[in-house]
Amino acid sequence: MSQPVDSAVSAVRTFIEQHRAVFLDDLAEWLRIPSVSAQPDHAPDVRRSADWLAAKLKETGFPTTEVWPTPGAPAVYAEWPSADPGAPTVLVYGHHDVQPAAREDGWDTDPFEPVVRGNRLYARGAADDKGQVFFHTLGVRAHLAATGRTTPAVHLKLLIEGEEESGSPHFRDLVEQHADRLTADAVIVSDTGMWSEDTPTVCTGMRGLAECEIRLFGPDQDIHSGSFGGAVPNPATAAARLVAALHDEQARVAVPGFYDGVVDLTDRERELFAALPFDEDRWLRTARSHGTLGEAGYSTLERVWARPTAEVNGIGGGYQGPGSKTIVPSSATVKLSFRLVAGQDPEHVANAVRAWVPGHLPDGIRHEISFSPATRPCLTPLDHPALQSVVRAMGRAFGKPVLFTREGGSGPAADLQDVLGAPVLFLGISVPSDGWHAPNEKVELDLLLKGVETSAHLWGDLAEHWRHAP
Ligand SMILES: [Zn+2]
Repeated sequence: MSQPVDSAVSAVRTFIEQHRAVFLDDLAEWLRIPSVSAQPDHAPDVRRSADWLAAKLKETGFPTTEVWPTPGAPAVYAEWPSADPGAPTVLVYGHHDVQPAAREDGWDTDPFEPVVRGNRLYARGAADDKGQVFFHTLGVRAHLAATGRTTPAVHLKLLIEGEEESGSPHFRDLVEQHADRLTADAVIVSDTGMWSEDTPTVCTGMRGLAECEIRLFGPDQDIHSGSFGGAVPNPATAAARLVAALHDEQARVAVPGFYDGVVDLTDRERELFAALPFDEDRWLRTARSHGTLGEAGYSTLERVWARPTAEVNGIGGGYQGPGSKTIVPSSATVKLSFRLVAGQDPEHVANAVRAWVPGHLPDGIRHEISFSPATRPCLTPLDHPALQSVVRAMGRAFGKPVLFTREGGSGPAADLQDVLGAPVLFLGISVPSDGWHAPNEKVELDLLLKGVETSAHLWGDLAEHWRHAP
């Protein structure tokens, strides 16, 4: 049984070894394009990055490559159908734009002049996300070479957006506009990481996000605290009481209805999370916090990955200048964000918050609440066949067991899940030390090539274990 596995693994490795130098040169060429979507003067570079990628995907063998315009930066779409009509369709998501970077931010070298030091490639976008998009190009070629196929074992589609680092303002519209081209049985997001160099993991979900601003209004202007204070409601006090009421003694969110629909962790997931080599002291140092605090009954990892939360992002109002100003302020503001987990509906949460606020305000305090557009949560169950394929492919590449994580943050992947109705899986080889959004971003070359290998094994495995019923 193990013989064919070994020969497939070594055929893939041989191919990658033969093509590794050109692959890294090509990636370096792409990294030299400063595709910073947040900075308007880099707009031509973001377009150049899209064109560069589309041309490279064509060269890789994708028969269809297109640059899709948006009101902002363009996305790249590519498609490579399988000759096998019953094959599943997989859509790979990533992004070709990068975070801003300048030498004076603390980079040791020019962020847009890639350099290899030791076994690391340093450049803005090396890990987030150009490296992790690009490993699929060599991956699909290794897949073909190792299996003797001329088309991939799955119908392969790529959607690489150009505005992820700017909050993906046009992504949902883009996906809706092209929904019939993008249909897929599964979405593979290649814009995440794994636990550590030694512990390969697959991420199974991301939390969603709902954010609001609550403005509280008292007197029509700041008024004298001696003449009026103590006899009229103070909006700053009201803000403090509102915020204090947000959690109960168990650090659970006290908004009625907030937990409606929440998909609980399974015992198996809790066991697997607990199997990760988690060092809480180290985590605290990374967090730069001086203690842990969260919902009773859950571990730190469970709290950040699998439980919904409410956070006070800011609270303000009244006089905050030097010395004193004895007033009852006229207004106060609270900014809240809610991380949501699978089963929670952002609209339902927003309505629950809207219904909860007035009951915690005294008469004479008027309020306004505004929610920004929400991001939905996504989660793929551990036993999903496509997830199992990712785990097997990664296991073959790394030669060790693959564990599971989730992502506490939120991202546009959920739009793909919503619009396309396909499960979202996360495949990433980046590690926490890669320095996303920070100076000296890098990717570990060994891991990058493991990403190529994983991609090379994945398509065949998916086709074998997850065929369409005729
Ligand atoms: Zn990214």
